Amino acid sequence: MKFANATLSVLLTAFLIQCNNALIAPTFATVVSQPTSTSPSDAKISKHSLIPPEDPFSLDSPAEFEANVLKTYGRYPITITHGQGCKLYGKNSDNKEVEYLDFVSGIATCALGHGNPSLTQAISEQMKSLHHVSNLYYIPQQAALAKWLCDNSVATKAFFCNSGAEANEGAIKLARRWGSNHGITDPIIITAIDSFHGRTLATVSATGQPKYHKGFGYGGEMVRGFQYVPYNDEQALEKMVQRMNRTPLHLKLQGRKRGVAAIMMEPLQGEGGIIPGKPEYFQKARELCDESNALLLLDEVQAGMGRTGTLWGYENLNVEPDVFTSAKALGGGVPIGAMMARGAAADVLGPGDHASTYGGNPLACTSALTVAKFFSDNNILDNVKARGEQLEMGLKELVAKYPQILGEVRGWGLLKGVEIKEDSGCTAGELVSDSMREGLLLVPAGAKVVRFVPPLIVSSEEMDTALNLFERSLTKRTANYNL
Ligand code: PLP
Repeated sequence: MKFANATLSVLLTAFLIQCNNALIAPTFATVVSQPTSTSPSDAKISKHSLIPPEDPFSLDSPAEFEANVLKTYGRYPITITHGQGCKLYGKNSDNKEVEYLDFVSGIATCALGHGNPSLTQAISEQMKSLHHVSNLYYIPQQAALAKWLCDNSVATKAFFCNSGAEANEGAIKLARRWGSNHGITDPIIITAIDSFHGRTLATVSATGQPKYHKGFGYGGEMVRGFQYVPYNDEQALEKMVQRMNRTPLHLKLQGRKRGVAAIMMEPLQGEGGIIPGKPEYFQKARELCDESNALLLLDEVQAGMGRTGTLWGYENLNVEPDVFTSAKALGGGVPIGAMMARGAAADVLGPGDHASTYGGNPLACTSALTVAKFFSDNNILDNVKARGEQLEMGLKELVAKYPQILGEVRGWGLLKGVEIKEDSGCTAGELVSDSMREGLLLVPAGAKVVRFVPPLIVSSEEMDTALNLFERSLTKRTANYNL
């Protein structure tokens, strides 16, 4: 190795210390805060003997959930125990065995479905060999995954983390540093109304939906520096860029400079109601970024990794981002996130600027590499396109049959939604519950859209079955209307 070079060695040591501050600090604090004379039996924790965990399948799961899990989610009253392909199995609220066709895939995540033999084998073997070492060392699986991502996108470098929010958090930091490197003290990131970028403080602030901000502000403000514009509206975007590139006098007087550091958008708004981006809008965004030396940052967490029939959502828009993020389908359900950057944007963050303990570990990267190989070996993108067309045609037929309930069909590939009409008398959530009773799992995208995001391996027969089950729920609902 070349680490004999003294300068490099000093730099590396400084980098490792910075990267691991989080680890070193608590350990140190623990050591100094423990009075050495206290015997272990005096400590509160040691008065109890350790309670071993219980067998999950011997517990009453819903009851244990309510008693022990923070209530941050509304859950459907079913318990899923196992799955195979596009099927999930479990128990309903009457404790009856149930089987579902899964058109949720863990919210657009389990690209290869459940119990995929290639993924199972790859993970098991990786687990036996090595699952985590930290980013203190070179990780061959991480290098291979980064290379695959760069070979198959506009990116030139990758950073790995564990989730979509964390990938977006990295992208927001990169954009702010980009602004800072170009003399901007008050970097603005423009995002869209009805966007969704995650639940960490910065990503939820980037999210243009006030309902997610409620009660999380400081003096009424979320993380500063985000401005929201209507999605797919070129004029509004242009106006906002011009306005934010002007520094108000009170900031100028303090020696500060405001400017747009990035425009951050989903290529297709997922949680906001399955709204595909317009190519003209994204091309305008690209132009505006080029003119003002800002970064075009795309959130591909839901749309990316094959779900739209192309590997990345931006391929549907004929635009090249400077930075994009991925998670969800990337690991086929094993947690992994990635922030990808190209050109000068890939050189913005240096050693110690950003880190993640689990990021890019051998286990997570092996999962993503297996998903990637499965895509190539099985022409998955072709399947997504064909099944996506089948889904669209089937939904449009249902719209024609049930016009009192269903409105527009939207989306790309296997990221599709059907609008539930305002005056239909039911919500997307209610239709999802109806379909669940018929044996089909779906998920709302906002209050008015039912989303269809099956595993990318879904077969033509399974697609027909799903459409039939969805129709059954519509028939029953309209039958009730006519009573
Ligand atoms: N970005 C988009 C577009 C998403 O759809 C989501 C999750 O739904 C996220 C970010 C957040 O991802 P995660 O839940 O993995 O943090």
